[in-house]
Amino acid sequence: MTLPAHAQIVVIGGGIIGCSTAYHLARDHKADVLLLEQGRLTSGSTWHAAGLVGQLRSSASITRVLKYSVDLYKRLKDETGLETGWKMTGCLRLATNADRWTEFRRLATTARSFGMDMHLLTPKEVKAMWPLMDVSDLVGASWLPTDGQASPSDITQSLARGARMHDARIVEGVRVTGFVMDGNRITAVRTDQGEIGCETVVNCAGQWARQVGAMAGINVPLQPVKHQYVITEKIDGLSADAPTIRDPDRRTYFKEEVGGLVFGGYEPDPQAWTTGDVPDDWEFRLFDDDYDHFEQHMVQAIARVPALGSVGIKQMINGPESFTPDGNFILGAAPECANMFVGAGFNAFGIASGGGAGWVLAEWAIRGEAPLDLWVVDIRRFSGLHADRDWVRDRTLEAYGKHYTIAFPHEEYESGRPRIVSPLYERLRAHRAVFGSKLGWERPNWFAPAGAEARDVYSMGRQNWFAAVGDEHRHVRAHVGLFDQSSFAKYEVSGPGALAALEWICANDVTKAPGRLTYTQLLNSRGGIEADLTVARLAEDRFYIVTGTGFRTHDLAWIADHVPAGLDVQIDDVTERFGTLSLMGPKARDVLEAVTGADVSNAGFPFGHAREIRIAGTPVRALRVTYVGELGWELHVPIEATGVVFDTLMAAGAPHELRPVGYRALESLRLEKGYRAWGSDITPNDTPFEAGLGWAVKMRRNVPFLGRDALAARADGPLEKRFAGFVLDDPDAVLVGRETILRNGEPVGYLTSGGYGYTVGASIGYGYVRHGAGVTDGFLAGGRYELVVANDVLPARIAMEALHDPAGLRVKA
Ligand SMILES: Cc1cc2nc3c(=O)[nH]c(=O)nc-3n(C[C@H](O)[C@H](O)[C@H](O)COP(=O)(O)OP(=O)(O)OC[C@H]3O[C@@H](n4cnc5c(N)ncnc54)[C@H](O)[C@@H]3O)c2cc1C
Repeated sequence: MTLPAHAQIVVIGGGIIGCSTAYHLARDHKADVLLLEQGRLTSGSTWHAAGLVGQLRSSASITRVLKYSVDLYKRLKDETGLETGWKMTGCLRLATNADRWTEFRRLATTARSFGMDMHLLTPKEVKAMWPLMDVSDLVGASWLPTDGQASPSDITQSLARGARMHDARIVEGVRVTGFVMDGNRITAVRTDQGEIGCETVVNCAGQWARQVGAMAGINVPLQPVKHQYVITEKIDGLSADAPTIRDPDRRTYFKEEVGGLVFGGYEPDPQAWTTGDVPDDWEFRLFDDDYDHFEQHMVQAIARVPALGSVGIKQMINGPESFTPDGNFILGAAPECANMFVGAGFNAFGIASGGGAGWVLAEWAIRGEAPLDLWVVDIRRFSGLHADRDWVRDRTLEAYGKHYTIAFPHEEYESGRPRIVSPLYERLRAHRAVFGSKLGWERPNWFAPAGAEARDVYSMGRQNWFAAVGDEHRHVRAHVGLFDQSSFAKYEVSGPGALAALEWICANDVTKAPGRLTYTQLLNSRGGIEADLTVARLAEDRFYIVTGTGFRTHDLAWIADHVPAGLDVQIDDVTERFGTLSLMGPKARDVLEAVTGADVSNAGFPFGHAREIRIAGTPVRALRVTYVGELGWELHVPIEATGVVFDTLMAAGAPHELRPVGYRALESLRLEKGYRAWGSDITPNDTPFEAGLGWAVKMRRNVPFLGRDALAARADGPLEKRFAGFVLDDPDAVLVGRETILRNGEPVGYLTSGGYGYTVGASIGYGYVRHGAGVTDGFLAGGRYELVVANDVLPARIAMEALHDPAGLRVKA
């Protein structure tokens, strides 16, 4: 086929992801699509995948994406005439110890919350389903009957056929070699056979996606890793519809294939491939068999299925697959480029994800907005740090090694640390801080009391920091604490068009006079919450915006992308220019008064205001705001003065018992106060009204803003879901999120966050209660509630207002 001179959308890569994206673009959006593949379809990673298809993930949206894949694979043949090899065999996950079993009990609850039926089986039941298995070491297994397996190449060819049926053009043997750019916009794709003008590019180049992205100046932080499995000869007595098995304690997986078994695993010592460019000519190629490295899986697999000890190996597959630093794939609009979308880095679940990933990526590329909350896979979760390939490799290998380890709550990565430290790092270490890391920043999670071990000891129940964090929490409520929040992302938006731009982008009124501070959400066109942050108006035409550490790239890109055309606005990321010290607690004013001459009385410096004050001779941006529900200030200090301001505060605070406090206490403090966390409690799937944040939306002002029309269109209808808080009476219950909410015995939602409130002395959870006919106050208050916690049903009380200081008197004291 000769190449066209122009295509609306060019998809790069003919693996399962590119073909699925092209299929959905053509079928759902009638787009003019051209898919370019340098070799032949499937010739990258797709052809050699094992083909296990699991669906359950910890994110509801990603689970929905994977469920979509299964639905598509079931029916694709009817549409295209080409088989997908889909077999709904179900999946058994094996547990050999108590912690794993707790993990599965939580998993079964998550499944139920997400509308899937996961069963927990006894070893005897497992044996009946899979007679060749040794079950002597099992505690039990989880069973998800709707999982299965498929043929990766067949699905891909079937998707390609479907795409062509809807007029997509697919051309093999054409390599993309670069892009013609106009600023940060791609105007044409360069290939080894000429240029093609285009409006949008979708980079589905698998392990090449990093280098293809680099050609347009974008960073796709993935790392190819060698992944091996073997295919055995026929095994007597193995059923053709044997369930797939995941045996995480032995780090292995199994799948039936033509009478034999496919098995492989996730070893703790994975082998990275290159951190440089992947060769262009890696078509249908594998690495040499590496039985030395594979032996660890072999030993474990034979222990599980003894018949493997006497059966021959037909073939070993040792192929490269792209993994990422957090084990999630990479999707969406690249922040560095106006019109490149990415779908790559599938961490060995690209076959399971393929159908759904193509669906959402096509929507995203057409509408410029993700169709649902895809934050955990959003390319904007990364930052400049992720351009460091050695760091990405090390962190990715750690994530790979943890693929099958027990996922303890609150677990932190260890590799590549410390990477970014605040100026207070050594001082906080001296206070026995135990750090976690967020987007590369070391942040104090808690402070170990003298005599206690200053490190996390993970467990499924209360962890070793529980009591220490309780002390920090109560200290903030009773006295005052100092949080190092220097990792906060901070931007300045300025220029003649700044006010008009933010008026459009922000759902709340940010036009208040200079010196005022506004909490606001940024909404998408569906009225869903894309971000929430505080905006301080420093001057008529200058704003200072503060948002969460992890949202730095995302929120900046969202703001920059939505400035209305023609406005003269300057947007600067000033994160590293300011250290942030949050002084919080009823004694905060006493401490602040001791270090500044500024009037910090309630009348002189009310809640919701921003002022420049001087501390230790340094001008400090003080924002009167709180995320803990107490009197307090966020002090934004020129980075070089952060240490001296900290020392000054600590010295002046000594009579008031000022002490440093960490992020785990912050979390329990905000839970008690009912402050929502973006990414879990509030997401692009939720509107401010559903989230109970309608008070922060300027509906009464007659001005247009992004998301307003969608909210207005739904204003008269009932709210089908509403955010609510729950308290458990059981003092030992551990909430981790995703627990099912039962109302009068029926599931009505699940927790978006959960934890412990040390002041109220109980476990607290939040989530949306759903009811098609509308969730009224009467409906909420009128139910009898229970939470399903690790598969146990526990009585719960609904909280109709904040559990701590519902009137906000302490905040405004
Ligand atoms: C051993 C092994 C077992 C696996 N088992 C499973 C499993 O059981 N279940 C599961 O869900 N997943 C599994 N996977 C993962 C799965 O194979 C991948 O996630 C999936 O195939 C990725 O698809 P892709 O389309 O992103 O990449 P690819 O299939 O690699 O496709 C990318 C394509 O882009 C093309 N390309 C690159 N650069 C250019 C360019 N410049 N111009 C034009 N074309 C270009 C390449 O030639 C390639 O064909 C496994 C992977 C391995 C290695």
